[in-house]
Amino acid sequence: MYIVMASAECAPVAKAGGLGDFVHGLARELARAGHRVEVILPKYDCLRLEAIVGLEKACPDLWVPFYDQGFACDLYRGQVDGIDCWFIDPQAPQDFFNRGVIHGEPDDPDRFASYARALLEFLHQTGRHPDVIHCNDWHTGLIPVLLYETYQALGLNRTRVCYTLHNLGHQGWVGEYILHQLGLDARRLMTADRLRDPGNPHTVNPMKGGIVYANAVTTVSPRYAWEVQSTAQGMGLQETLRRHGHKFSGILNGIDYAAWNPLTDQHLPQAYGPESLPDKARNKQALRQRLGLAEAAKPLIAVVSRLDAQKGVELIRHAILHGLERGAQAVLLGSAQDPLLEAYFRVLQRETAANPDCHLELGYDEALAHLIYAAADIMVIPSVYEPCGLTQMIAMRYGVVPVARRVGGLADTVFDANDAGLPFAERNGYVFDDLTPEALESALDRALGLWFDYPEYFRQLRLNGMAMDNSWARPARQYLDIFARIRVQDSA
Ligand code: ADP
Repeated sequence: MYIVMASAECAPVAKAGGLGDFVHGLARELARAGHRVEVILPKYDCLRLEAIVGLEKACPDLWVPFYDQGFACDLYRGQVDGIDCWFIDPQAPQDFFNRGVIHGEPDDPDRFASYARALLEFLHQTGRHPDVIHCNDWHTGLIPVLLYETYQALGLNRTRVCYTLHNLGHQGWVGEYILHQLGLDARRLMTADRLRDPGNPHTVNPMKGGIVYANAVTTVSPRYAWEVQSTAQGMGLQETLRRHGHKFSGILNGIDYAAWNPLTDQHLPQAYGPESLPDKARNKQALRQRLGLAEAAKPLIAVVSRLDAQKGVELIRHAILHGLERGAQAVLLGSAQDPLLEAYFRVLQRETAANPDCHLELGYDEALAHLIYAAADIMVIPSVYEPCGLTQMIAMRYGVVPVARRVGGLADTVFDANDAGLPFAERNGYVFDDLTPEALESALDRALGLWFDYPEYFRQLRLNGMAMDNSWARPARQYLDIFARIRVQDSA
C-alpha cells in the first residue's frame, strides 16, 4: 500500500508531544511491514536538522493557490530514522513556518490551512496517488475536505482518508474566512452536518470537517473513543462522532520499544530487565546522587509530565506532599507552558527545597526522564482526561508501578492490583476514579503499603507490567486493517 502521513509533528525532527511519537512509531512500523510510506511535514525553522539524512530541495517552485492569488513552495526531501519525509516550505509573506515553534501561534489555523493546501497540490502536481492519506489532529482536518471538494475532480480520485484524533481539547476553531482562503464554498460547507462548529454558528471547526469527510476516523484508545462520544470529553463533538460512529474506532497507541528499553537504554548507568530486576536499584542510587536526595530505604514516587490542566496538576501536587508524609521520596520532572502553572510548581519547589526526600525539576529533559523511569518505584498519573498516555506504558516497561486515574487510555492499560475479577498476571498498577485527593490517596496508599509490607508482591506487580506488550506491532496491524478496508480495490 502507498500511505502518506500528514501531521504537524514527527519525532525527533519536530516533536512537541505524544503526536510526534505516534507518527514516528507508526510510520516506521508500516515501512518495516513493506509499505511505501511518506511523511509530509511543514519545514519549520526549528526542525532538528541533524536528525534528517540527505536533506535536499527536490521539488522547487510548486505554485499553491491561496485566496485569489497564491504562493510558491519549495519541497525538501530527506530521511528520518529510515522514514521518507517531505518538508513543505511556503514562500509566503506571512513566513508561516519561520516562527521558532511548531504550533501555538495566533494564526495557527492559517499556517496549517496553507500546509493542507500545499500538501494536496504537491500530490496532484507530482502525479502521486496514495491509497490512503493518514491525517492527524485538527491541523490536518481540512485535508479530507479539500480532497473531496476540490482535488477529486482534478484527478485525485483513488485516494482515501483515515483521520486520527489525538486530543479533542484542540479543534482548530477559526473564522469563515479560512474557507475563502482555500477556495471552498462557505455557504455549502457552513452547515450543521459539515464544518459549522456546534457551539458557534460563525466558527469553522476543522476537526469536525475531518470527522465528517474522512472515510475512517480513529482515536488513540478504545476508552477515549467511548468517552468522546458519550461524555463531555467530546468537547462539543459528541453528536458528530455518534453520527459518524459507524466509521469511528479506538486503537491504543504503541511505544517505541527500541527507544524505551531498560536493557539497552544509553541514558542509564545500569541496564536491567525482568531477569535482572535487582539491578534497577543502581539507577535509583544514581538519580538520588544526581538530584541530591537522601539514600534511604524508601519508595520513590515519580511524575514525568507536561504541567497542563489536563494532567491533574492539583492532584500531582497532592500526591507529592501526601507521599512525603507517608515516608516516600518524590521526584517531579515537569514542563509548563502556562506561566501560572509554572509559578504554582515554583512555589511547591520552594516549599520542598530543604527536604532531602524531594526534588522538583521544572523543564523538559529527555535524558533525565529516562533516568527517572529507570529509578522510580511508583509513577503517579492523575489526568483529568488522557486520550492515550505514553507515560504509564513507558513506566511499566521500566518496572515502575503506575498509580493512575481510570480515564481514557489509562483505563485501557493500567489494571488494579486488587481487581479480583482479573487474572493476577494482568494486574499491573493501582487505579482510582474520582478527581479528588481522597480517591488518589486510596490508590497511592495501597501502592505504598505494598512496597513497604509485601516487597515480593510488589516485585511481581513490576514484572506483570514489564510483560505487557505495548509495542507498535499490534496497533500498526489494526491501522493497516482500516486502510485496507477503505482503500479503492483494484478491479483486476
Ligand atoms: P502528552 O502527549 O499529553 O504530553 P503522553 O503521556 O502521551 O502525554 O506523552 C508524554 C511523553 O513526553 C512521554 O514520552 C514523557 O516521558 C515525555 N515527557 C513529558 N514531560 C516531559 C518532561 N518534562 N521532560 C522530558 N520528557 C517529558
